[in-house]
Amino acid sequence: MTKKQDVEFHLPSLEHRQFRDDEFWKEIPGWENIDRETFADAKWQLKSSIRKVEQVEKVLGDKVSKELMDDIRAGQHITPMNIRITPYVFSLIDWDNPIDDPLRKQFLPLGSQFLPDHPYDMGDSLAEDVDSPVPEIVHRYPDKVLFLPITICPVYCSYCTRSRLIGGSTEAIPKDTYGASKAKWEPVFEYLKKHKAIEDVVISGGDAFMLTPEHILHIGRSLLAIPNIRRIRYATKGIAIFPQKILTDDAWYEAIRTVHQEGKAMGKQVVIHTHFSSPIEITRWSQLAMERLFSDGIIVRNQAVLQAGVNDDVETMVLLTRKLGWINVQPYYVYMFDMVPGCEHFRTTLREGIEIEKAVRGTTSGFNTPTFVCDLPGGGGKRHVASYEYYDEENGISVWTAPNVKPGEVFTYFDPIHKLSVEAQKRWGDEKLRKLMVEEAIKKAGF
Ligand SMILES: *Cc1c(COP(=O)(O)O)cnc(C)c1O
Ligand code: SF4
Repeated sequence: MTKKQDVEFHLPSLEHRQFRDDEFWKEIPGWENIDRETFADAKWQLKSSIRKVEQVEKVLGDKVSKELMDDIRAGQHITPMNIRITPYVFSLIDWDNPIDDPLRKQFLPLGSQFLPDHPYDMGDSLAEDVDSPVPEIVHRYPDKVLFLPITICPVYCSYCTRSRLIGGSTEAIPKDTYGASKAKWEPVFEYLKKHKAIEDVVISGGDAFMLTPEHILHIGRSLLAIPNIRRIRYATKGIAIFPQKILTDDAWYEAIRTVHQEGKAMGKQVVIHTHFSSPIEITRWSQLAMERLFSDGIIVRNQAVLQAGVNDDVETMVLLTRKLGWINVQPYYVYMFDMVPGCEHFRTTLREGIEIEKAVRGTTSGFNTPTFVCDLPGGGGKRHVASYEYYDEENGISVWTAPNVKPGEVFTYFDPIHKLSVEAQKRWGDEKLRKLMVEEAIKKAGF
């Protein structure tokens, strides 16, 4: 073997170091007179968020066609999620080509894009309600829990995994959305105190950006005071879709900073988990927000969702990964889609997930490389995409186990039917055949 003296690495580009810093919102007719200072104001962002179809039409004026508006209206009859979009995200959408825009796809669904739900979709696909010992807690793993103190967010993703709860009822589904309520949290803290095996709490929902500074402090300090709790994560999509809050909502920022400082003094970790899915979401604003968090020593990790037409190609996923790394956000997970209603058009096959993971690995630092996981329907928890027991690719059926979460149980995950062969699609159309195929796959897996 010859020794190479100087290896020429294949670096496609340094695009991941480019951050948009123009006044892009001025291209939206309704905001053409908004100056940078106003745009940076968290209160203005919240107040000016788009929450109704009529507002889309109003701010865009003649930049939006009648056909597109009709399609958006049609989407509102089907989507499980209400509309809520910050001006920041709304103006990052390429309104000259909204149909293909990854941000438009995520936050403003079109009626024409929806596909029939998969027959095995479920509102609570991850069986979180079953694993909930007290309200607002999901306790599935031995030493960590999910705490859901709020069910509203600054932006609603049309593919939300908790669409059964988050963001208020829509035409398609009624929901038990709830706001933050301190009284409900005492039993949560009691539970965590009593169960000494628990060390790690994910404060999710919902979105921690919608908790008041007082709530942030109250939750943070109550958790830090529990001796067995060593790690706290505040989960917020905020840094991705509303970085202005980190920059100009000083009361909220100060609350997070305080909990982090107090945790540090006690030898405990307080971090933020965020949710960027597209490199388009990462601008100079994200970079500034991260500079503030980084200077205070607050670690931020990212959980993305693998979405068709948003990030399901190698180039985009590598760009997302490296761009996050550049601004000191640690790419943590990329999720396969959960099998919840209203998402079929977004889902990819497991094989696609595995192939993209293979291509991303090796492109940057290992600690900045996300783990691609499938959160198993039925509550098996998160598993590495390539760790299935058996995969019938022809029929899109994968079989899994979760030895430490649900020992002895067998789980299945299904590829989107529209991506299968015509013959397989026909088989899925037959209810009896469908059941047989799943049974067969489980048998082939050895169970
Ligand atoms: C995802 C999740 C967690 C956190 O899991 P990590 O793999 O540590 O990020 C905790 N509890 C539940 C129920 C979860 O779904
Ligand atoms: S930010 Fe999270 S909880 Fe909120 S709508 Fe999006 S996916 Fe759902």
